[in-house]
Amino acid sequence: MNIEISKIATLPSRFGDFKIQTFKEGHKAHLAIFKEPLGDIPIVRIHSECLTGDAIGSLKCDCRDQLEASLARIYKDGGMVIYLRQEGRNIGLLNKVNAYALQDQGYDTVEANHQLGFEADERTYEVVETILAHFNIKAIRLLTNNPQKLAGLKSIHIVERLPIVILPNPHNARYLKVKEEQMGHLLS
Ligand SMILES: [Zn+2]
Repeated sequence: MNIEISKIATLPSRFGDFKIQTFKEGHKAHLAIFKEPLGDIPIVRIHSECLTGDAIGSLKCDCRDQLEASLARIYKDGGMVIYLRQEGRNIGLLNKVNAYALQDQGYDTVEANHQLGFEADERTYEVVETILAHFNIKAIRLLTNNPQKLAGLKSIHIVERLPIVILPNPHNARYLKVKEEQMGHLLS
């Protein structure tokens, strides 16, 4: 995998001051957002891009809540958020909006993806190994509600899973239930 790596820059944010570094894989520029000290076993959140949630504040999902909780946590305790550019569980923004249109007709999030010819979840995490290796990180405490997220990654030792507790809202309650029942996510 050919990865182009940026310099490290500082990023003051509403959550505190972080450092950022970009890892460009093909046309996708992923971002590591981190707060030192990383220590031997840093807290790491692997977050997949969700433009509608992260940037616009969509209530259809819990992505922004999870991102904000993660940034607050790593600012407090040190660690890293790896922001992966795989919008809409990696089906891209156009297909995601088509999936939302199907959801408007009553399909759930899994059924809508299947209608469009995709798996429920098309995300991949190989680049995470490259990014963590760059920081010489071999073991992490993974901030996630999805225990299977990094199951295929051999080079990373997940010492502990730290949950992110998000309160449902009327719009995403059904979505969160489908994630829990059909996709193995833990909501508490
Ligand atoms: Zn989302």
